[in-house]
Amino acid sequence: MTLRRWWRGLWERLAPARRLRVVEGDSLPQALPWRDLVVARDGDEDWCVGLRCPCGCRSTIELLVIPEAKPRWDLAVDAKGRPSLSPSVWRKTGCRSHFWLRSGRVHWCD
Ligand SMILES: [Zn+2]
Repeated sequence: MTLRRWWRGLWERLAPARRLRVVEGDSLPQALPWRDLVVARDGDEDWCVGLRCPCGCRSTIELLVIPEAKPRWDLAVDAKGRPSLSPSVWRKTGCRSHFWLRSGRVHWCD
């Protein structure tokens, strides 16, 4: 395990859980918060989820959650407002981060 991986894993355990912010409409804002997730909600329909890549590369990750999309993700929020995503997020370009988001916490796959 590299020092960088060890550090990001430790930080993820110590930092507060990520939360979910809701924006109205079918698109995400230009600027996403540093840690929290944003969901674009039009009426009662969730369209997409955005977050900054948790590896620190500053990339924006956008995930579709509408039923018609392919690929698509399931977004669940627990009673404390902590989001979970299914399946895992795997960036095919750039930093190639692969992680699960469960109850507002990132679980790295590598
Ligand atoms: Zn990254």
